[in-house]
Amino acid sequence: MINVVDKNTVNKTKPRRLFFALALPEDMQQNIVQWRADNFPPEAGRPIAAANLHLTLAFLGEVSAAKAQVLQQLAGRISQPGFNITLDDIGHWPGSGVIWLGCKNPPRGLLQLAQLLRSQAARSGCYQTPLPFHPHVTLLRGAVRPVAIPAKTANESFHASHFSLYESVFARGRTRYHLVQSWPMASSERTSDAL
Ligand code: ATP
Ligand code: MG
Repeated sequence: MINVVDKNTVNKTKPRRLFFALALPEDMQQNIVQWRADNFPPEAGRPIAAANLHLTLAFLGEVSAAKAQVLQQLAGRISQPGFNITLDDIGHWPGSGVIWLGCKNPPRGLLQLAQLLRSQAARSGCYQTPLPFHPHVTLLRGAVRPVAIPAKTANESFHASHFSLYESVFARGRTRYHLVQSWPMASSERTSDAL
């Protein structure tokens, strides 16, 4: 999990830098960090801290408290079953200097959830990139030189049973994510029982 919000630090009048994301389970974060250390030389790029490994669903940018409240209400109305994610793909975007883990076949539920959150954000006036959504977990940044990418990933899997809104805070030279709110997704069993 990323960081737990410190409610006392939340300044309700100042816009906050927010994004919806799926947190990775802590043991998976640790496994990925170990796998990364075993598979990339230190000069490959700047490793992302274990606690910051996440999968962004929708980036909102700087958001006022009023707009955040609307987006949180809309997020709370989303009802869709959870899904399994397997990080079985890896790639390098030299332009942005990002080395990432992703899914060869992203689950439909993941694409639907991101699409919904991104269209709610766009309708609320949060600019959304026209680039197609490419679900990924950033592993390294600043990777602008050619790097030997491992042929296989560690194939880590997890069940996404909730999604969350985070605030991104840059302070004392590092970026931390503070959990603002989480929403459970319906369990798959309950959904099939209801059919
Ligand atoms: P840094 O402080 O180095 O920028 P970061 O990129 O992790 O760290 P943010 O820039 O606040 O922190 O971004 C939070 C999340 O939103 C990250 O997953 C980031 O990749 C994603 N993100 C940031 N900007 C955009 C954008 N313009 N479009 C889509 N996703 C974005
Ligand atoms: Mg950034």
